[in-house]
Amino acid sequence: MKIIVGKNSGFCFGVRRAISGTEEQVEKYKKIKCLGHLVHNEIVTKELEEKGVTFINDISEAESNSVLIIRAHGVSENIYKQAKMKNIKLIDYTCPKVCQIHNKIKDAADKGYQVILIGKKEHPEVIGSKGYASNVIILDNVEDVENLKDYEKVFVIVQTTFSYDKYKLIESALAKRYKNIEFVNSICESTKLRQEECKKIAEQVDFMIIIGGIKSSNTQKLYEVARKINKNSIMIQDENDEKINECKKHNSIGIMSGASTPNYVVSNLVKKLENL
Ligand code: SF4
Repeated sequence: MKIIVGKNSGFCFGVRRAISGTEEQVEKYKKIKCLGHLVHNEIVTKELEEKGVTFINDISEAESNSVLIIRAHGVSENIYKQAKMKNIKLIDYTCPKVCQIHNKIKDAADKGYQVILIGKKEHPEVIGSKGYASNVIILDNVEDVENLKDYEKVFVIVQTTFSYDKYKLIESALAKRYKNIEFVNSICESTKLRQEECKKIAEQVDFMIIIGGIKSSNTQKLYEVARKINKNSIMIQDENDEKINECKKHNSIGIMSGASTPNYVVSNLVKKLENL
């Protein structure tokens, strides 16, 4: 059985920074809270909980004068204000690429642009980014473009892990819809490279495995990308998923992981496949 593992598999820069930073902080403080799951990967979450990290859903669950971690997805401006009021020390691991989006949204809104953020409205990064201006419209579908109102000038930015192909479709529909429009393609390079490599591998192999957290947006996007090209594609969380037995019927297997999947999870999968 031939196995091809994507070179762009494993943690992206922002996730690696947030995880290693949190590990250092939990060593220092022994017990520490983090606002939301650090990454959308249950394996990583469990490991961090065992080390002493508690994940909370709302800042109201953090005590005054405590220390609180902000994950790579970032949070809205309001969270910083609430933390200040409660004297909570924030350790901020918002990915610098997400911070750039926050600054650009703020700046565009201050200049009078109608801001359109292309992304999944329930995704934490999008929820956080929306909180940097009062006029942000979230859009994740090309069909919704025609329902938008008329605006004098429009500024468009995109979730870092959004599908590149889907973004291009929405971009071209918006360009036709508005005369005065400015685009910032803020899809992270790491996401783009991963999706491109995923496509290439899916074209070459008989069977494609996407491995990562079930709730991970970028992992789901990879699965969509792979499925479009290769119907024999599956998405799994780890090597214990029975779906991998399907591989026995095929000669070549491709593997690509999401940005929040540890490298050892991919290695475990490869070992298991080699023993099938
Ligand atoms: S995918 Fe890109 S933007 Fe998101 S955390 Fe990773 S490096 Fe940062």
